[in-house]
Amino acid sequence: MKLLFATNNKHKLEEISALMPEKFELISLNQAGITEDIPETGSTLVENAIIKAEYAYKKTGLWCFADDTGLEVDALNGAPGVYSARYAGPAKNSHENVQLLLKNLRGIENRAARFKTVIALIYNEKTFLFEGVVNGRIIDTLLGDFGFGYDPVFIPDGFNQTFAQMPLVEKNKISHRAKAVEQLIAFLKSV
Ligand code: IMP
Repeated sequence: MKLLFATNNKHKLEEISALMPEKFELISLNQAGITEDIPETGSTLVENAIIKAEYAYKKTGLWCFADDTGLEVDALNGAPGVYSARYAGPAKNSHENVQLLLKNLRGIENRAARFKTVIALIYNEKTFLFEGVVNGRIIDTLLGDFGFGYDPVFIPDGFNQTFAQMPLVEKNKISHRAKAVEQLIAFLKSV
C-alpha cells in the first residue's frame, strides 16, 4: 500500500521507514514529484501537520501523512515550540538553532524540555491526528553524531545519553516520533 509521507527530511524518512510494516510503501514528496517547500503557516503543530498533509493530498490524491515536531523548553515558556525549525532565522539552520538555544539557556538551572510530534493523516477525505511526546532535559554542550536537529542537546528522562548518542533503533524505541507513528500504524491496521 502506497503512503505519501509529506516530507523531504531524510532523517524523518529514515526513522519512520524503520518503524513501518513492510506492506506500507513510504514515498517522499520528491518521489511524488513535489519539489517545492510547503509553507508552514500554522500557529500550532497540529495546524502545520494538517497543512502539509492536505497539500500533498490535493496534489496527488494518495493517502498522505505529515509530521510536525517541536521542542518545548519550560524555562523559555515553551519556545522554540512550533518555531523550532526557524528558531535562529528563516534559513532553518539546525546548528544555529542549537547554538541559540544553548545561549538562551546559559546560566538557567531548569533544563526541562519535551519533544512533541503531531502526525496528520488524510484518509478517505478525513483527517486523523496522532501525537507523541518525550520528556527530557537540555544539556549545555553537544554530544553525539547520530540523529539530527536538537538531538545532540536532548537527554530523554530515564537515560544518560542524548538522542544523538543513540543509534536509530534505540531512539526509535522511545522517541516522540516513534510514539506518534505507533498510533498511526495501529490506525492503518484497523481500517
Ligand atoms: P519540523 O517538524 O520539520 O518543522 O522540525 C522542527 C524542527 O525540529 C527542525 O529544526 C528539526 O530539525 C527539529 N526536529 C524535528 N524532529 C526532531 C527530532 O526527532 N530530534 C531533534 N530535532 C528534531
